[in-house]
Amino acid sequence: MTRTAYAEINLPALRHNYAIARQQLPGTRVWAVVKSNGYGHGLLRVAQALPDADGFALINLDDAIALRHAGIHAPILLLEGAIEARELDEAHAWQLDVVLRSEHQLQWLRACGLPLRVWVKVNTGMNRFGFVPERAIEVVQQLQQDDVCEVAGLMTHFACADDLAIRLDAPWQRFMQVVTTTGLPFTAANSAATLRAPLTHGAAVRLGGLLYNNNPFYPDTSLWPAGILPAMRFAARIVHIGELAAGDSIGYGAAFTAEKPMRIGIVGAGYGDGYPRAAPSGTPVLVNGQRVPLVGRVAMNVLAIDLSAQPQVGIGDEVTLWGDPALSCDEIAWRCGTISEELQCALTSRLPIRQIVADSHPRPLPDDQTAPAQCLAYL
Ligand SMILES: *Cc1c(COP(=O)(O)O)cnc(C)c1O
Repeated sequence: MTRTAYAEINLPALRHNYAIARQQLPGTRVWAVVKSNGYGHGLLRVAQALPDADGFALINLDDAIALRHAGIHAPILLLEGAIEARELDEAHAWQLDVVLRSEHQLQWLRACGLPLRVWVKVNTGMNRFGFVPERAIEVVQQLQQDDVCEVAGLMTHFACADDLAIRLDAPWQRFMQVVTTTGLPFTAANSAATLRAPLTHGAAVRLGGLLYNNNPFYPDTSLWPAGILPAMRFAARIVHIGELAAGDSIGYGAAFTAEKPMRIGIVGAGYGDGYPRAAPSGTPVLVNGQRVPLVGRVAMNVLAIDLSAQPQVGIGDEVTLWGDPALSCDEIAWRCGTISEELQCALTSRLPIRQIVADSHPRPLPDDQTAPAQCLAYL
């Protein structure tokens, strides 16, 4: 049977987005974050689309090993370090950098006796992982004195970088306490911190969302760099055209009722494919380059759209659900009260994936841009 929904992953767009980050961050390494199957875009697909990446960061050891098996020699950072002692042996064998974020990992590290490259994590307020500043300083000094491993640097992860109403001063000062005392290089910034606070760039930034066209501040676009492209387009075909008379409702729960006669398109995609059931009536989809609204509840395999203003659109025509310059995943996610990452990670593995491998319209990088002047104000 022909599948009616699919995702299209645009490899040149990923490369282009990485190149923009690279261009705007001279002097800082740019690690591409590829956890959770490359934010749903495909782990190996993303990594192989970025052959010149300075490094990759992810959570699972198995994923890191898969990258090595695929011939990727760039630095790889395990963002949460080892989850059991034997993973440290593997990390050493596969030349992976590890984060050190807890006392029990410290014991494993001392016991394993391997010269690993370690980034010591400082807890600056996320309060999940990491050492408080005073303890982080002790840990670094003891590791160095006892020559346990190579302390590559310090690492932290901000709790509130994506909320421009919350300043980063307090976590930043906590982190700086450790940075200035130890004199070590550091990595602190995710996409949001990278965009809002150049001070945090350090030796390496860890970019996930930005590479996948996910603006952490959406719907605020004031800090979003020009030229970033969608890398994932979710699309489906129209499988049926129907009519509603005034007063007819459509779909489960009769959640939408027509006020006047309407032309309805039934699209072959639903929450069973990864389109969010939470999307309310009125959420736009793109047909023929035009935005038309979804009507009624999203079902497992179908959703309905209002084609009253699109008389020429018919069965078999394609609808873009997200991932076009005119319809971002951020917008759909925002209308559903979530973030793009959740939608992208939730695409079902059954969904066919098409890849765009060559750029039919290569785009030059935007003119050299410096970070917007207001950035520092947000620290
Ligand atoms: C996921 C993750 C990132 C990347 O965050 P984005 O907001 O997607 O750029 C960076 N650092 C850590 C520790 C992460 O877990």
